[in-house]
Amino acid sequence: MAKLVISDLPDSEFDGKRVFVRVDFNVPIKDGVISEDYRIRRAIPTIDYLIEKGAKIILASHLGRPKGRVISDLSLKAVSSRISELLGKPVKFIGKVIGDDVRMEVNELQKGEVMLLENLRFHIEETYNDPEFSKELASLADIYVNDAFGTSHRKHASTYGMASYFDFRLAGFLVNRELKFLARLRDNPEHPFIVIVGGAKIKDKISALKNLLEKADKFLIGGGVAYTFLKAKGVDVGRSITEDEMIDWAREALQKYEEEIFLPVDHVVAESFEKRKVCMVVDNEIPDEFCGFDIGPKTVAKYTSQVQGTGTIFWNGPMGVFEVDDFSAGTTHLARAVALATWRGATTVVGGGETIAAIRKAEVLDSEIVHISTGGGASLEFLGGEELPGVSILNDKKE
Ligand code: ADP
Ligand code: MG
Repeated sequence: MAKLVISDLPDSEFDGKRVFVRVDFNVPIKDGVISEDYRIRRAIPTIDYLIEKGAKIILASHLGRPKGRVISDLSLKAVSSRISELLGKPVKFIGKVIGDDVRMEVNELQKGEVMLLENLRFHIEETYNDPEFSKELASLADIYVNDAFGTSHRKHASTYGMASYFDFRLAGFLVNRELKFLARLRDNPEHPFIVIVGGAKIKDKISALKNLLEKADKFLIGGGVAYTFLKAKGVDVGRSITEDEMIDWAREALQKYEEEIFLPVDHVVAESFEKRKVCMVVDNEIPDEFCGFDIGPKTVAKYTSQVQGTGTIFWNGPMGVFEVDDFSAGTTHLARAVALATWRGATTVVGGGETIAAIRKAEVLDSEIVHISTGGGASLEFLGGEELPGVSILNDKKE
């Protein structure tokens, strides 16, 4: 069922109203400097829209995992400055989430003004979905908006508990866009549908993998995930990471989707991560004392030739330990192939925290991917057919 979006409401509904917008500003910050602000930029259209409609805007997000403690490194102060730069107007930040000071500040908000609350997870009640805390947050506003797709799979006070106090519980533009693209992948992707999966663990992705395997025409597997599949096939993988509890499942998947699944045919290996200065490329089997850390050049050629300019391409999970230059080639080549496919006309969707970092490292631009999903876990749960509490709680669109 489609969800009511902010643009579905008549403009007059927002005029002078206090609007609580749950955003996902969980961005990497080091020494007060934000290294990657994609999630902030993606929330700007929703904020712009609400400003234009004369709303009083209260933004709220979590940052990291402070587990109920106030940790100054996890303050959203730097984020408030960044939003202010992007909007070209001041953003009020008083360093608190609830309480009299917050209420006073909200009362003083004028039409079109924006304030940002402090890190929601400085209160342990947030993650416990505490009813009192939810009620307190809800008392700050007249309308609730969820634009935090990356946190929508969590049943927290700000993503779920507080929403039930509002008549209007709306999707922001970012959430709406995520749902549109991911629902298309889940329900009726344009074919050929190519899925590229890598990363560290099958277990994190299992429900999405099951669903996508059924839909995909080709399934290109790399990264740590590949070794469990290779081991299930009886290929020696040396000391590469594997998940023994997933071997049976992998073997069945290989039998059922023999035509669709592609596995690496060569590997970049080293004795260990510590001894990575000595690395080499091997075909097929990995020697006993070695670990696979990236797909090899033959695999790159095989995979990139499958990534064409038609249909749909979904990619989650790096092809190797891309954080290290010696093991980043496979991921970089794939990233560039996906970017080229976008220019040729394919609908390309990329998701996952590390995968996004990897496409940045490959210097692929935002405009070279049709949709970069801001949600890692949330996108995978959605693709796996699960309901996202932060989405279910929103108003349904009337037919
Ligand atoms: P995402 O965050 O995009 O969903 P994952 O969290 O599934 O991706 O996986 C990312 C991690 O997987 C990266 O940090 C990368 O170093 C690791 N990885 C990829 N290939 C390997 C490998 N061959 N061995 C060990 N780790 C790997
Ligand atoms: Mg990850």
